[in-house]
Amino acid sequence: MAPKTIICPICDFRQPNFDQCVNCGAIFSKLFEVSKKKESVQAEELHGPLKSIEENTSGGGKTAIIPPEIKGWNWGAFLLNFIWAIGNRTWIGLFSILPIVGYVMPIILGYKGSEWAWRNKRWESIDHFKSVQRSWAVWGTVVMILLLVSFAGLFYLVLHPGEQSLEQVL
Ligand SMILES: [Zn+2]
Repeated sequence: MAPKTIICPICDFRQPNFDQCVNCGAIFSKLFEVSKKKESVQAEELHGPLKSIEENTSGGGKTAIIPPEIKGWNWGAFLLNFIWAIGNRTWIGLFSILPIVGYVMPIILGYKGSEWAWRNKRWESIDHFKSVQRSWAVWGTVVMILLLVSFAGLFYLVLHPGEQSLEQVL
């Protein structure tokens, strides 16, 4: 049974149970509709994040949710820094070529690289992302070893100049 009087939610005026407030003119059925809509929006906000973990959020920019599977140290980003940055459209990584900032940027890239790459570029899936990042790490390691070997070679030549000239080696 409907109550005999109703209190207007807008102005608190108590009146017989009409649909419209005599005091302020608010229409109660419309107010009720609005509050129902608000409820469904709130429900969406609550369940949204849960759903998007299952969804592919890559390439979604700053607000994209990071799947927990991709978090962790990124060796490719650390070792290949600015080359990796170009390949992964993570332009902040180009700071690696600057003096001073360039010393810390690879460390930041190693730490944050995976998150940034996930947000900045569209990937087919988490597995796709992981396998591409794995090959960046492999190439980073190969490049590092080649660099170390050639530096060692150069040092050897500098320390033993008489034994072999640079021309003969090249
Ligand atoms: Zn009212």
